[in-house]
Amino acid sequence: MRYPEPLLKLIRALSGLPGLGPKSAQRLALHLVFHPEAQKALKEALLGAGGLSVCPACGNLSEGGLCAICQDEGRDRRLLCVVESVQDLYALEKSGEYQGLYHVLGGTLNPLEGVGPRELGLEGLFARLEGVEEVILATGMTVEGEATALYLAEELKKRGVRASRLAYGLPMGGSLEYVDEVTLGRALEGRRPV
Ligand code: ZN
Repeated sequence: MRYPEPLLKLIRALSGLPGLGPKSAQRLALHLVFHPEAQKALKEALLGAGGLSVCPACGNLSEGGLCAICQDEGRDRRLLCVVESVQDLYALEKSGEYQGLYHVLGGTLNPLEGVGPRELGLEGLFARLEGVEEVILATGMTVEGEATALYLAEELKKRGVRASRLAYGLPMGGSLEYVDEVTLGRALEGRRPV
């Protein structure tokens, strides 16, 4: 059977998205085709999301300029939490246990893939250390996440800044975004020096 070309295009675009296989992409595409109001809502939401920018200080999403967290005067500026992604930042925020600032790396060190300290923009992190008393290394429990935390711990020690790592009890090999809030809150509370 031949799909109409515009439908095929929509299915292709959707099936390239994370978490969507070809079957769910087709279901979603057909739903959109038959529901103009859902199309309209999605179009508007996409336009709005396309206008989001990245916080120049921490790498979180913002609606232009500094993000809401960086702007919040109530946050503890002596604490800086290093995460791999904005998803991980959201996961930690949901735990409600953390009141400091963040630094989003956008990945991990991965020499095999050509990602070194420069590619990861670590200078940007080191430039933010003034007034910071503790850096919490909240990269994932993967090999790359652990290696990145280890590297950062060494670099922070050279710069005289205390570093800590989330407590054990988080699943090995996993990303923070899949950990429930309570476990994440405990891991944060029970963080240990590195
Ligand atoms: Zn920010």
